[in-house]
Amino acid sequence: MALYSIVIPIYNEEQTLPELHHRLLNVTASLHDPYEVILVDDGSDDRSFALMKEIHDKDPRFKILRFSRNFGHQVAISAGLDMAEGDAVILMDGDLQDPPELLPQMVAHWKDGYHVVYTVKKSRKESRLKRLAFRAFYRIIHSLSSVEIPMDAGNFSLLDKSVVAVLRNMPERNRYISGMRAWSGFRQIGINYHREARFAGSPQMGLPRLIHLALDGIFSFSNVPLRLAILLGLLVAFLSFAGGLFVLYAKLFTDKAILGWASTILSVLFVGGMILLTLGVIGEYISRIYEEVKRRPLYIIRDKIGF
Ligand code: UDP
Ligand code: MG
Repeated sequence: MALYSIVIPIYNEEQTLPELHHRLLNVTASLHDPYEVILVDDGSDDRSFALMKEIHDKDPRFKILRFSRNFGHQVAISAGLDMAEGDAVILMDGDLQDPPELLPQMVAHWKDGYHVVYTVKKSRKESRLKRLAFRAFYRIIHSLSSVEIPMDAGNFSLLDKSVVAVLRNMPERNRYISGMRAWSGFRQIGINYHREARFAGSPQMGLPRLIHLALDGIFSFSNVPLRLAILLGLLVAFLSFAGGLFVLYAKLFTDKAILGWASTILSVLFVGGMILLTLGVIGEYISRIYEEVKRRPLYIIRDKIGF
């Protein structure tokens, strides 16, 4: 018999929790195997914790990990992974954008011997701009990354315990779970689904945090931006060298001397812009190195209930 762990990060989801509980119970009833649900309270300041406590008191299969403050979605998932005891661990959002009804299908693939079952969003119910941004992000990271990161695959996934062990041993602080999952290898398979709208409330991850996560993904899984700096430098150097030769030629062999400060200013500005851009790219890596070397714990637990 297999044990399943379902890890769900929760940040101010008081409106969704009862429905989440209800739908999880329906789905897990069809699994015919024991399971635990790890609700990670990422520093909620609404009634989420009280509601989770109620759920736990009635049904101890629901366990709670409560952070001392808000540490972020990816960190909450990581904490859940650290505590999960299941032979297979399912990661899903707590806002019902990831339909729990997909669980049986994921479990079936796992029983067929797949170590990772990830889900691919075939459609999403979000604003046009957001959809466009997500599309662009997945394509950029797909083309830049040194590992094959599947497109449109988010956190919603099932992981075999061997993969969970790998993720637990990855020490990085800048965590981009979808990338780390792809990096781990093993036998992976994707299934398609349609991403629902949020059940209630508005997204906790505002645009700045999504951008931060996107940058984490790109800079932790690719050195291409750094190489881009070299390419840009070479390109500018080559162009200016060619330009210099041309000016020299015009001066020595023709009577059309080249004048004008506009061209001087423009080239100075251009090179300045390139330098700032590449410095910024280097800065992105350095700030991530800085985060890593501080070696602070990834999260702080305030309460552990049911473990
Ligand atoms: N979440 C979290 N910590 C945060 C932000 C969000 O644990 O700082 C949870 C949130 O409660 C939800 C899931 O992570 O269960 C996804 O969050 P959200 O819906 O805001 O993200 P999006 O769907 O926009 O990516
Ligand atoms: Mg959501």
